[in-house]
Amino acid sequence: MRKKEFKAESKKLLNMMINSIYTNREIFLRELISNSSDALDKLYYLSLTDTNLKVKKDSLEIKIELDKENRTIKIIDNGIGMTESELETNLGTIAKSGSELFKAENDKQKDIEIIGQFGVGFYSSFMVSKEVSVLSRSINSDKAYLWKSNGADGYTITESEKDTNGTVITLYLKDNTEDDNYDEFLEDYTISRIVKKYSDYVKFPIKMDVKKEDVDSKTKEKKEVIETETLNSMVPIWKKKFKDVKESEYNDFYTDKFYDYESPLKVIKSEVEGLTSYDALLFIPSHAPYNYYTKEYEKGLMLYSKGVMIMDKCSELLPDYFSFVKGVVDSLDIELNISRETMQQDRQVKLIAKSLETKIKKELESMLKDDREKYEKFYEAFGEQLKYGIYSSYGMNKELLQDLLLFYSSKTEKLATLDEYVSRLEGDTIYYASGESIDKIKMLPNTIEAIDKGYEVLYLTNYLDEFVIKTIGTYKDKKFMNISDTNFDTRTEEEKEELKKVNEENKDMFTSMKDILGDSVKEVRFTNRLKEHPVCLTTEGEVSIEMEKVLNAMPNGEKVKAEKIMEINENHPIGKKLKELYENNDKETLEKYTKVLYSNARLIEGLSVENPTEISNLICEIMSK
Ligand code: ADP
Repeated sequence: MRKKEFKAESKKLLNMMINSIYTNREIFLRELISNSSDALDKLYYLSLTDTNLKVKKDSLEIKIELDKENRTIKIIDNGIGMTESELETNLGTIAKSGSELFKAENDKQKDIEIIGQFGVGFYSSFMVSKEVSVLSRSINSDKAYLWKSNGADGYTITESEKDTNGTVITLYLKDNTEDDNYDEFLEDYTISRIVKKYSDYVKFPIKMDVKKEDVDSKTKEKKEVIETETLNSMVPIWKKKFKDVKESEYNDFYTDKFYDYESPLKVIKSEVEGLTSYDALLFIPSHAPYNYYTKEYEKGLMLYSKGVMIMDKCSELLPDYFSFVKGVVDSLDIELNISRETMQQDRQVKLIAKSLETKIKKELESMLKDDREKYEKFYEAFGEQLKYGIYSSYGMNKELLQDLLLFYSSKTEKLATLDEYVSRLEGDTIYYASGESIDKIKMLPNTIEAIDKGYEVLYLTNYLDEFVIKTIGTYKDKKFMNISDTNFDTRTEEEKEELKKVNEENKDMFTSMKDILGDSVKEVRFTNRLKEHPVCLTTEGEVSIEMEKVLNAMPNGEKVKAEKIMEINENHPIGKKLKELYENNDKETLEKYTKVLYSNARLIEGLSVENPTEISNLICEIMSK
């Protein structure tokens, strides 16, 4: 018997793979099971075309045997098996895939499904084994052969004994070290767990003898019994027709797989055939996970190829703005050995992602249309993410997402879409006000004025809202305007003229008031639009007061300032009082009044007072007079 070397490039690949590609060593089992499943598929396929072969479909199976004493794991199948030369070519040369070859030889074999497309899978067994043996007998031969290798130096093939067709893979586990404990792979429950995790939906049964505790009904003594268990459930829930699955089954699957204690808000089932083919079962959670709005949250869908799990969280399948979606995608078009790196370039992955995005959007739209209550619950949990999607893409996604947004409307006192607002609108401007809460916005002098004049105003309470509005820019040719913008003016031309005159007359007084306040304001002036309120702040330019608050709260953000204008109600007694003070040249009191008025205006807007002690003292002083 001569020992054969692996081909040079095979050796390199082998090392590379053992050390890098498969960082998660437990997947060796997934690889071997998927090879066995392929071998069973191939045999079954042959039996369809070769009438001499009598294969009973329900006898096809995979068996796992654990031997603690000898520290071995056996993976056994009664599939197509390998001849001597097949052992040589399939296992001797890495990256030469027998599966590929088999495909090429049989053109008409449309329905045969083969998981592994690249010949690296088998070698992953060396991640946990110091030696691997493959005993195999081909369906086309009555001789059996034994392939043996320790991975590093090469392999041997010798004639051997085996009664039936199929393959027995024996892994001789590596010795334990301080860092690595390989004995865990000899435990029933570890193997059970790994099979459930990666191979639950392989369509042949994966069986294992499992030790169970049994209580003797007479003696009440505990004893161990051995039971053969099928570890996998075989038919994936996402392959079943939507109508054949109970709601509770979907809910259980969701809570179990995605570690949620609440049932999902919506289940989305999608079967696609065409440019790309896949089955998808998606879920919209009913609440945001506790870490959703943090860096720790990882988006992604489980990715399966023909019942074999490839990846736990394939992030490439979801755009960021739909990162809340959970679920499974199963596609024949994805290669089993696709890596994180190639995933990003993969055309099929991109096609699937695009198709899923469209599907998710459609589902959300129909939820919005048909089940408003549910949609609002969704929006409460994930609306911010949609807004973020618009804002962070500088508006690139606005067409896709803007119709999914909701804002509170002053008119209906409910959440409204932009489309609903516009359908009620006569002019060309969408009005909004922003603030910490609906109640606070309602009390703003600007709001009171706008509502009084019959405007419908959207109340924006999320810190992102105003930025999103700015990013959207225009919606259906309507522009947006903050009602605290100085350009928001509801007065008649006459009223405007009149005010202009009054302001002109009192110009000098306002200049000295502005000097008192310094950079804090851009201008001080009278207004005739406030009803009974003495004072308010309006802004000029791009940055509103709410935006100033948000931007200044950001870590490392540059500090910004809204250009504030203090407007004083000319018809309020305070207007008269100020004029009096100025005329009497009582500079000292005018300064005190100006400061108190300005801090009042800030408080109304939810801004803090810059010098609270001084202001508090001033107020008390004025009160005591
Ligand atoms: P892949 O499965 O990706 O082709 P592997 O290295 O895992 O690559 O396996 C190489 C080839 O060895 C397979 O394509 C298959 O032809 C053959 N093979 C592996 N395991 C078995 C098995 N249990 N029964 C029959 N053939 C097998």
